[in-house]
Amino acid sequence: MLSFFPFARAEVDEPAAEQPAALTATAVTPGSMPTPLQVLREVFGYPQFRPGQQAIVEQVVAGHDGLVIMPTGGGKSLCYQIPALVRPGLAVVVSPLIALMKDQVDALRANGVAAAGLHSGLSREESQALYAELRQGDLKLLYVSPERLLLPDFLNRLADLRLALFAIDEAHCISQWGHDFRPEYAQLGCLKQQFPQVPLVALTATADEATRQDILSRLGLHEPFTHLASFDRPNIRYTLVDKYRPNDQLLAWLADQKGQCGIVYCTSRSRTEEVARLLSGRGIRAACYHAGLAREERSRVQEAFIRDDLDVVVATV
Ligand code: ADP
Repeated sequence: MLSFFPFARAEVDEPAAEQPAALTATAVTPGSMPTPLQVLREVFGYPQFRPGQQAIVEQVVAGHDGLVIMPTGGGKSLCYQIPALVRPGLAVVVSPLIALMKDQVDALRANGVAAAGLHSGLSREESQALYAELRQGDLKLLYVSPERLLLPDFLNRLADLRLALFAIDEAHCISQWGHDFRPEYAQLGCLKQQFPQVPLVALTATADEATRQDILSRLGLHEPFTHLASFDRPNIRYTLVDKYRPNDQLLAWLADQKGQCGIVYCTSRSRTEEVARLLSGRGIRAACYHAGLAREERSRVQEAFIRDDLDVVVATV
């Protein structure tokens, strides 16, 4: 299945001033930690690491800081999720969007991993329950937005916990040279100052040399390793064809893809709606997706696509 990446500002987490209960130190039993390969196989059900993953995992397990640049779909998540399960303590994962956190947390829980997301979408009761789990050391991975992580109160609470690592997803947001600069991300340099002993791994799919240097210096990583994966994607093919009666061309092409699912990209919101209507009218399970839709509608479409209730999502780029 092709993945899709709804990146709408409306879904960015905005913390309300809330005062959760105090966190206390967690008790983790050292000496009982599995190996990375065991975790890969037994928790995630994959027989082998992909190229590069094992070296990254081992570096992070050993406590090193690092920067990982790997294409989307390359398998970045396991590079911090496996160390999170091998090292004692809680792994804190910075993620820019609630939708991304939710996807990751759902997938981890489906594999039996104690993971949770802390964001403004939680009710007060849900937040309190989550803080109680943290206090008891019941969680292994906590996804959190940079805004929430950087609240002084939250950082103080983390200081009372045993921390396995920090992972910063979509790390290009740290750099002013990155295409998606977010000021809150730029402040994440305080993590290494406040938690110098906790390994920190930054991950992104897009970072040129200037952005990479910027990420490393802003985060103040200590003797970091850098992993730059190959961006050769033999499974992706671009084909250009002359445009002639594009609706018919699209329908003919989709007829050849029967039994598969995917995303059709359009350049305007109105065109996504037109195309979705066209496809639905021809019996294809399709829906449109763009930033002008209400958040509930976008979630509904995303969930339906993930559950295979939709075959085609017609989205803006
Ligand atoms: P990224 O964050 O780099 O975009 P993900 O971490 O979401 O990519 O991984 C993309 C897909 O590849 C996921 O479905 C993931 O489970 C799968 N994957 C990752 N590592 C492996 C592996 N070693 N073997 C098989 N599948 C893997």
